[in-house]
Amino acid sequence: MPRERLYLFDTTLRDGAQMNGVDFTIHDKLTIATLLDDLGIDYVEGGYPGANPTDTELFSKDRDLNTTFTAFGMTRRPGRSASNDPGLAMLLDAKADAICFVAKTWDYHVRVALETTGEENLASIRDSVQAAKAKGREVLLDCEHFFDGYKANPAYALACAKAAYESGARWVVLCDTNGGTLPHEVEAIVGAVVKEIPGDHVAIHAHNDTEQAVANSLAAVRAGARQIQGTLNGLGERCGNANLVSIIPTLKLKSEFADKFDIGVSDEKLKSLAHASHTLDEMLNRAPNRHAPYVGESAFATKAGIHASAIAKDPATYEHVAPSTVGNERRVLVSDQAGRSNVLAELERAGLRVEKDDPRITRLLDEVKEREAIGYAYEAAGASFELLARRILGRVPDYFAVEKFDVSVEQRINALGARVTVSMAIVKVKVGDETLISAAEGIGPVNALDVALRKDLGKYQPFIGGLALTDYRVRILNGGTEAVTRVLIESQDETGARWTTVGVSPNIIDASFQALMDSIVYKLVKSGAPA
Ligand SMILES: [Zn+2]
Repeated sequence: MPRERLYLFDTTLRDGAQMNGVDFTIHDKLTIATLLDDLGIDYVEGGYPGANPTDTELFSKDRDLNTTFTAFGMTRRPGRSASNDPGLAMLLDAKADAICFVAKTWDYHVRVALETTGEENLASIRDSVQAAKAKGREVLLDCEHFFDGYKANPAYALACAKAAYESGARWVVLCDTNGGTLPHEVEAIVGAVVKEIPGDHVAIHAHNDTEQAVANSLAAVRAGARQIQGTLNGLGERCGNANLVSIIPTLKLKSEFADKFDIGVSDEKLKSLAHASHTLDEMLNRAPNRHAPYVGESAFATKAGIHASAIAKDPATYEHVAPSTVGNERRVLVSDQAGRSNVLAELERAGLRVEKDDPRITRLLDEVKEREAIGYAYEAAGASFELLARRILGRVPDYFAVEKFDVSVEQRINALGARVTVSMAIVKVKVGDETLISAAEGIGPVNALDVALRKDLGKYQPFIGGLALTDYRVRILNGGTEAVTRVLIESQDETGARWTTVGVSPNIIDASFQALMDSIVYKLVKSGAPA
């Protein structure tokens, strides 16, 4: 049976950009658009030309993309003609392949917010769609508050959708603007709509306010809709939009959808999904969600020893899909409940070949248990675990030694009369026969220590040039005067590889120092730096 085409529409750059703390530059937007295009997303909504300088400039540039690059904007204002509305004119002049208009479809909003009549709102929809069609654009109509509107007045909500379709809109987009509609309601309402408008002209735009934006999107497809709108990582205002990073693999890998539909994302491109998700986090300077379905670090991680041995025999026993299909990997967590098979699997993943009955495995297990008892967390710090294993197996060169370090924090009043805190670190390192002394100022003591430590490592400097600290987490264990501090540091290098290291000490600077040292040594090992 031939499969039907299902279209994907990404609005990370428009609706996703509504999220608190998200502020894309033009360069960011073009980078993300290229990423989405490369992935095989059919439509990329770039923004709202005329609403802000960034989006206006974005839509004045030529682009080299295969995706249908879409501009968002309002239908003509009530009481004006389409030819006499500056906002609409700007939208029609934008360099866009498609235009997505937003219009009210809830009669209550038409009366109260728009202060116009239902008939004038319908005329505004028709005029705007026709004006964009006349300009040679593909047209979409976002039916704002469609589901709430349909519940209040189904005839009027449907009349809006039909006005757009009959005027030539390629897609009528049913928006759950408040995000409160449940999957069975979406399925029933979309089912009613596709009796009036062919499903291959109907799209779903779901928000995640009941944590069901993905479920709602899939429910709409089951009912007949053939375009899904969403964002990368579910970015979006309030609780976010439907997460395309979860929807895409579900469509590709779950037979209910995979047997019926084709999407623009190939099997090969699906393998770059985890990378795409992490790239967006990187641009937003956020640590990726470890527990994100399909692409999170923990998505295919397992802890208990009994599971690890079962996984070694047959991976499918504990995984709903193969991790490699979405560019993720299987992780077997090492922790104080670790069995031997856990450790062996983790060593193999790190590329360390050891005989199953090697006595050093027992030593490594004992060492892990002892250290975890005093606060180390190897489950979260795979790079520190790998170094520990390599040391016990005798495979970490003595690259350099820190002979001493000194960190100071000074608070003073500066020339402007403001109270400032300045941190400084001095580090004395021995590399071979060479003694190197570096000093650095930092935002805080750990930052100063980090900068001083990486300032001059002699012959190893070229290997750590691309190293950057991307996340720093502190946890006080036990509490009270006996408290110890656990520091987890996440680092990244020029290739985009990330790793986490751990340090534990009663002193936060010392704990940080251990984690920083592990990070640098790990990078040298991975780069194959000579001893
Ligand atoms: Zn929205």
